[in-house]
Formats: sequence, structure tokens, C-alpha cells
Amino acid sequence: MASRRPVRRRAWRFALLFFLPLLLPTATYPQDQWPAPLPPELPWDGQSQELIVAQDDPWITPAERTGLTATPTYDETVAWLQRLAAAAPELNLVSLGKSHEGRDIWMVIASVEGAVTPATLKAAGKPTLLAQAGIHPGEIDGKDAGLMLLRDMTVKGTRAKLLKGANFLFVPILSVDGHERSSPYGRINQRGPVETGWRTNARNLNLNRDYSKLDTPEIQAIVRAINQWEPDLYLDLHVTDGIDYQYDITFGYTGRHGLSPSIADWLDQRLTPALNKDLKARGHIPGPLIFAVDNRDPARGLVGWTAGPRYSNGYGDARHLPTLLVENHSLKPYRQRVLGTYVLLESTLRTLAKHGKQLRRATVADRTRQPERVPLTWKAPDAEPDELEFLGVQWETAPSDISGGECIEYTGQPVTLTVPYFKYIEPEVSVTRPRAYWIPPAWPEVIERLALHGIYLETIAEAREVVVELARLSEVKLAGEPFEGHVPVTAVARPERRTVTFPAGSVRVPTDQPLGDLAVLLLEPDSPDSFFRWGFFLEVLQRAEYVEGYVMEPLARRMLEQSPTLKRTFEKKLAEDADFAADPRARLLWFYERTPYFDDRWRVYPVARE
Ligand SMILES: [Zn+2]
Repeated sequence: MASRRPVRRRAWRFALLFFLPLLLPTATYPQDQWPAPLPPELPWDGQSQELIVAQDDPWITPAERTGLTATPTYDETVAWLQRLAAAAPELNLVSLGKSHEGRDIWMVIASVEGAVTPATLKAAGKPTLLAQAGIHPGEIDGKDAGLMLLRDMTVKGTRAKLLKGANFLFVPILSVDGHERSSPYGRINQRGPVETGWRTNARNLNLNRDYSKLDTPEIQAIVRAINQWEPDLYLDLHVTDGIDYQYDITFGYTGRHGLSPSIADWLDQRLTPALNKDLKARGHIPGPLIFAVDNRDPARGLVGWTAGPRYSNGYGDARHLPTLLVENHSLKPYRQRVLGTYVLLESTLRTLAKHGKQLRRATVADRTRQPERVPLTWKAPDAEPDELEFLGVQWETAPSDISGGECIEYTGQPVTLTVPYFKYIEPEVSVTRPRAYWIPPAWPEVIERLALHGIYLETIAEAREVVVELARLSEVKLAGEPFEGHVPVTAVARPERRTVTFPAGSVRVPTDQPLGDLAVLLLEPDSPDSFFRWGFFLEVLQRAEYVEGYVMEPLARRMLEQSPTLKRTFEKKLAEDADFAADPRARLLWFYERTPYFDDRWRVYPVARE
């Protein structure tokens, strides 16, 4: 018997090999036909191409060597940067931490003083730009642009002036493990580079959903770096797909309506005009962040989205760190995108050098602002939306026999449209700012994360009795499937006033601190990015103690005898709720809930408001 089985298996394998190509035609689809059939490329011949050095230049970057069509591996990138740093006294490399797979997350420190520590960098008093590439490794334009700029600022000397006015912190690859999951098939909607990394980290988590919950070593590393190096401005460099349009580089941030209005003013008045001017002068087509209402019909308009703190730009707004989200357009060639990013980085450094003092004042103003009501979610006003001039690309739609729906096809012809612009700038849900939050020591994973954000915490050494507001949760709904390694949960939270004794080791989180707004967004159960909504408090949703029917029955009878009001309420409930009336367990539970034996912490959100 033992000898016959393998023979059968081999026969099966043979049959599979023979017939599989016939059964699955995709398995024999010729490799050279795999390149994704993208919409037509728009012609481009921008002046920024002069930035590419000659092929025989000793400091040519690995991407330039390929004419900006390919991007180097992690090892090649790090080796090239180490060689550059060895030759340039302005540059130092520091590891911000390690990924799951043990790779260092490198940051380049570029300063005239050759600073290696936050203290020496800050001592010179210059403004500091932190730019990070590869949070989504398939969108790696920023890395290759940064390598070129670092070279030109140092050994080449053509951009040496930039460092006289501002320091430059540069993370070439944030999602280092995702970057090494490289193939030609990482980005189907994108025109190069020939091979790219994968969108998520080694645990399949999207780093640009992790800023509030801080699960990943990569985002923990960058938040630690933000706290230590205290950059004045933060850039998160991406590439976006979605609809086709003429813009090759788009960028945006939370506007005046958000939690950092003074910073938004500076970005509106100083940075945005400078970037637009410099990018246009070099032949690029800058635009605002583009999110279509409907990707199958660009004429329906665009959405001006207000990001929550799970995203870099929403996080920046919540912690009053000036933050710009940059999205190159995926349908533009890699060469054009890298050069646009170079011009954007250069222009940002120049603007920061010129107007950095003003930005610092704006940042201080926002950190001390501490509004009485904090918006948790945003909506578009009911009024007619604004109109926006949109540099689009013409399209046709036709019924599709593939999808059975409508299919959109872009023609490659530029077109200028006026479209509605739905701006999500009106607070939808907001809360009053409590004086502080209280967190019992039983929730260390939440307390640790607050500390990692840099939020100031007071830990009490002895138990303390405090009058607080606690939220009782009802209508609890768990998400049907996991999201980013969590089971998100929503509930209706009703406040109750209580006197609570917090044990030693409990933490008080005052909200009159620079990161007070962020604390509110992380701790209010109605905030979409709160630890509660991410599912960090699922334990309190479970009931642990029960009552036997033979105990509850006589007790319930006595309760009815003693309280005519209770009797009336019970009878009303029986009359109005047929399901309840027909459910003996629910009826006993109804009485149990009204006894002091019932768990007074069940469905009570344990983070209290002072
Ligand atoms: Zn991205």
C-alpha cells in the first residue's frame, strides 16, 4: 500500500501539468504581455530633466543610471548612501529602529554642522525638514529624488546653499520590509519603476493607517524620531492612482478648518505658492490632492477630504506638526515623477529657510490654542459646493461585456473642466474638551502608546478618588471582518457621572498640553481613530458574572412587591416588546440588571473624563 500511493500521486501530478494550461489559460499568458495596458502617456519634456547627471558621473545614483526607469534595492540604496555620507561631512546616517525582518530604518541627517544628535542639530537654530519616502514602497519616487538632492547639496555642490538655511532629515525607505517584497507586479495602475515593493509591511499592515494606533515598528520609529528631532515640517511622499488627469504632482494638508489653523495659514500663504511656482518653472504640473467622487465619472467632482489621525497628514494636523501629503500621479512616467519630487523637496527647503521663523510662531500658536470643542469627524456643508477648475484628461464611457457595467477609457487628450468640489470642512461630531482623561493601569498597551506619541502623562503613586464622567456603551457593533489587524467596534456612548477610585499606577492625561487635541482624538469613544474604535477595549464588552433563575425568581417577585414604579415599567415593557415577553432569560436579566449584584463595569468604557 505504501508503495502504491506515490505512484498515483505522480500520475496526478503528470496529469495536472499536462492539462492545467488548458484549464487555466492565464497560466500560459505570455510574460511580455503582462505589462498593464495603461491609458495613453501624456507628452512631457520638462526642464527639470537637466538635474540628471551624466552617465559617467562618479556620483550618479542607481536610479539615474537606468535613466530613472528602475529603483535600487534596500541594500544598494543603503550602500550608496553610506558611500555618500563617507564623502560628505554634512551627512550622517542614523538608524531609527528595526523592522520585523531586522532591517534598519535609516535616516540621513543633512546639516552644515554635520550634526549626529538632535541636540547638535537644534543648537544651530535652523528650521528642519523631515521628508519620508516609501511608507508605501510601491510609491518610491521620493527615495530616488532624495538621493539626487543629497548628492547635489553635498559632494556635487550645485545645491549647497540649501543647507545654509535649513536642515534636512531624510528617510529614504520607511517600509523597509515591504520595499524588499519587490516584483514587476507591485503596482498595476502605475507607470514605473520596472520593479517595486509591496504596499504593506511584513505583517500586511498599511503604515499609513497606523499613525494613531502605533502597532508597527516602522511608524513607532518615525513617531519617536518626530519627538526626538522635532522637525518644523514633515513631508510624506506617495504616488496615487484613481482617475486620469494632467497634474504630475499633487499635494495637500488639512486646511484652516482643522486643528492647526495657523499652520494651515502658513502652508496656504508661504509653501503652496512657492511649490506651485517652482514646479511650474521646471515644467511640472502641480495640483491639489485629487479624490474623485466617482472614479468612473470625473465630471461628478472632487472631494476635499479631511484626514483622521490614522493618516500622516491627519496626524500632523492633530499634533500641530506641519505636514504635507504629496501624491505623484501614477500614470506619469517614473522619470517625470522623481524629478517633480526633487523640485518639490528643493523648493520646500528654500521656503523653510526663508519663512521658518514664521512657521515656528504658527506652530506655537496652534499648540497653545486648545479649543473648548474638538471636532471628531467632518462633513461637507449642505450648501452648494464650490467649483474647481480641474486639468483633466478626456474620457469616453461604454457598456462593458467584461464587467457588465460601464467602462471608462481615457483618450490622452487634455481637457479643462469646471467641477464641483465637496470640501469636508464642517464638524460633524464634536466633544467638549475635558480637563483630563483617567486611564486605569489595566490598560498598559494604551498607556504605552500615548507615551510613545509624546503625550505628557501623570502616573499616580497612590489610589485616588475622583469625580468623573464615564461612558456607558450600548448598541455595540463589531466589524464583520478584521481591518489592519483589529476588529473595529462602534457603540453609542452615554455619559454617567460617577465617583471612581483609581488604583495606584493609573494615568491622568491632562488636555491642556501641546498634544491635548491628539489625546482627545485617541481617547474619545466617538472618535473614529480612538483606541476604543480600533478594538483595544473589547474586554469590557463581555459579561462575566451571571444569576441563576432560582435565585432571581424570588428576588424579582420581592422587587415588584416593593416598587409599584418598577412593576409598572415591567408591565409596560411586556406589553410593548413581544420578543422580550417571550424570552424568559431576557426577563430575568432585566431584573438582574436592576440589582447591585449586576456588574457595574460591564459595557462601561474604562477611560474617564475629568
Ligand atoms: Zn500611498
